[in-house]
Parts: sequence; C-alpha cells; structure tokens
Amino acid sequence: MSDTPKQAPKTPARSTLKAVRGTRDLLPDQTPLWNHVESTARAVFARYGFGEIRTPIFEATDLFARGVGEETDIVSKEMFTWEDRARARAASEKAQSLTLRPESTAGTVRAYIEHKLGETGQLQKLYYIGPQFRRERPQRGRYRQFWQIGAEVIGPQSSGSESPLRDAEILEMLATLLDELGIRDWRLELNSVGSSEDRIRYNAALREALQPVKHLMCEDNQRRAETNPLRVLDSKDEADQEIINNLPKIADYLSDDSRTHFEAVKDALDACGVPYHLNPRLVRGLDYYTRTTFEFTVTTGLGTQNALLGGGRYDGLSEMLGGPRAPGIGFAIGEDRLILTLQAQAEADAAASGTTPTTTKFDAYIAPIGTAQNPAALALARELRAAGLKIEVGDGTFKLRKSFDTADTLARHIILLGEDEAATKTYTVKTFATGEQTKVPRIELTEKLRN
Ligand code: AMP
Repeated sequence: MSDTPKQAPKTPARSTLKAVRGTRDLLPDQTPLWNHVESTARAVFARYGFGEIRTPIFEATDLFARGVGEETDIVSKEMFTWEDRARARAASEKAQSLTLRPESTAGTVRAYIEHKLGETGQLQKLYYIGPQFRRERPQRGRYRQFWQIGAEVIGPQSSGSESPLRDAEILEMLATLLDELGIRDWRLELNSVGSSEDRIRYNAALREALQPVKHLMCEDNQRRAETNPLRVLDSKDEADQEIINNLPKIADYLSDDSRTHFEAVKDALDACGVPYHLNPRLVRGLDYYTRTTFEFTVTTGLGTQNALLGGGRYDGLSEMLGGPRAPGIGFAIGEDRLILTLQAQAEADAAASGTTPTTTKFDAYIAPIGTAQNPAALALARELRAAGLKIEVGDGTFKLRKSFDTADTLARHIILLGEDEAATKTYTVKTFATGEQTKVPRIELTEKLRN
C-alpha cells in the first residue's frame, strides 16, 4: 500500500474487476443470517452487562508489535502495513507505520488506557463486532478480511478483574451464546499457560528439551525453538507432532497461584454444568496470554479450520502497552466460521427432512396499470409499509402477465391498481395460495394482506 496519490492505471475497456482474493461480498441472501448472529450476540452480551466499543480499523503498527508479539505469525508475516506520510511535515521527518487491525484486543486495551477507563474503579465489560485483516493463504474458513465478534473484561485489580470467576463467566456466556444460536456440537478446549513468570520457567524447560531434537524438526520450528519455544506447541507440522507431544507440559510448571486459579475456573464451570476438555498444548498464537486459554471447536462445516473462537487471560497486556496494571480476559469468535457452521447444520437438517429453506415473501406486490398510476402505487405502498407490511411496487410499463408472474414469485398477494381502483379506493386483490380474487375496500386492505 502507498499513501502517495498515483494516477489510477488505465483499465482495458472490457476487463472485469473482482473482489480481491481472500475478501468476499456478502449478498442479501446471506446477510439475514449475519444479522441474526450479531443481534443474538448483542442480546446475550447485554444480559451479562457488556457495552459495545468501536475502535479504529487501523492503528499504529507498534501497538500490534508490542501487544500481539513480534515473533507471532500475525505480526511477523500476516499484517497489512504501510508507511503513512500524512503526519510527516518535512521530507526528513519519519513516516508513521500503520497497520490494518489483525485482531481487536490490542486496540480495545489501548482505548481502555487512553480513555482512563480504569479510573472508574469498575470492571469494564466491552464487546466489539467488526472486520479484521490478516495476509493468510485463503481457503474455506480462512480469509484475508474476516469478521470477529469479541469481548473483553478488564479493570484494576481491585475491581475483581483477576478473579477466576470472570474466566468461568466468559466461558459460560460463550456456551450460552453458542447454544442460543443453535450450534450443536461445540467443544471447549481449556488450558492454563500460567503467569508470565511460570512461562519464563516453562520456556527455559522447553528450550532445553528442544536442543537435542530440534534439528529433526521443520525449519519454522527450528527457528521457534530458538526465538519463542512456546510457539512450537501450536505447530501443525505433521512430521513434528510426535516430538511435540513428548515435550514437557505447562501443567507441570504452574506456580501454586496459577494452579489454584485454574482449579477455581474449572470448579465454577463444573458448577454451571459447562463441559470442557483439558488440552495441555493449547498455548494460542498470541504472546499476551497468561493463565486461562481456551478455544471452542466444532465438527460440522469447517473442515481443517475447525476453531470457531479463541481467547484467554492477558493480565500483563495493559502494562506492555504502557498502561496501568489491568488484568483482563477476552475472546474472539470467527464470525465467518460461525456462519459456515450454521449453514452446514441447516443444509444437513434440510437434507434429513427433505425440505428446502424458505425465504419470507412480500405481503403484497402492487401492480400499477399504466404509468399514470405509478404515483398512486407508491403512495399506497407508503401507507401499507407504515402499517408494518412488507410491500413491493411494480411499474406501470409492465404488461399484466409480467406483473402477475413477478408477484407470484415474490409475494403472497397482488394488488391491481388501475384508474377505477384509484378513483373508488377499492382494489382487486388476488391471494396466490388460494387463487381467490376479490375486490377489497381500502379500509379493509391492511387486514386482508396480513392474512
Ligand atoms: P485469533 O484472533 O487468532 O485468536 O482467532 C480467533 C478466531 O478468529 C479463530 O478461532 C477463528 O475462528 C477466527 N479467525 C482467525 N483468523 C481467521 C481468518 N483468516 N479467517 C477467518 N476467521 C479467522
């Protein structure tokens, strides 16, 4: 990307432009499901006291370098970054490096610090819904622009932000949301990566254990073994799996505090009846995580990209970004993947029951007969829509046959509006389901169309 205005390249006359690889258009047959997911999430979050935060889509690159971690895949190879000269007044002044957000926790914590939300002394419960950008190899369930629905609970220690109750509440809320959306086969994978001190000890143990075997591993893992051994545990490299499974386990390096914290999270989940599976390799791809980490996976619809959402605790993140001590925990749901799962479930249900999903039709289609009736048709549509009906208007240039055919496809009724109807305010209405055609006075029309 570049911020210097250049002349747009001359486009050959007939070339068609397409959405960039890894980005998608969501058309009106898809967006109702997206809106349903988002409104369900908003309703669930509201019951738990979360308020919405909207942060900018781009931030200073340094925020992600410091917050997410230089050595992570996201920062080292997936960010869309550019040099912005807008603020540099003199040619000698350094351009600012900006990045399209690859995730929203860093931006949310930056906003928490910038707006001094901690000074209220209250726990902040924040949620967001919006696009994220990562330069990943596109495939089903993995895009370069994708949506996340996420939430963060953060606050000064005195607000109880470090309490294991918060971890369990977040996980129980996610179970509730997935249940309310009708996701059937979710599985919660849970781990604790300990405090930052525990991780220093564990990293040292990993590094030592990797020394004699790392030369047998793939190039990426050899590098990680040196720079950030914890990342080796995320590796999907088939050939390296056996070595990785035999490495030391984080559970054996947890301090008493971290262990007690993790036990309390599990106890609260048990009390709520939220099932979970312990996964000692779940360290997640971002550097800021401490203690509880988790992922929800599904078996329907996603293939290899089966992680529906991920999250964890990040007690040191605010300080890493220059803020006050503010423990927190959060998650991000991959909305694209959630939708793919719901679509796959609906397809499986339809196949099992032999039905096809139905779309809601217009209550009525108004067919003006002759262009002179177009204004009256629009005025009638305005009144009926105001009464809460879903109305489509045809056009006076259409032949009656075409109006009937279109109306039959789109609507439950057709209203014919000719000169006579306009003058008498009595309309010819046909109900497609029954084939019945009657004259309906205006005063009875709204009621007639509701049925
Ligand atoms: P992360 O921010 O990496 O913890 O990811 C949280 C969730 O976002 C994942 O579990 C996925 O569901 C989703 N996600 C991450 N990267 C992508 C991507 N490139 N395309 C679609 N969804 C993604």
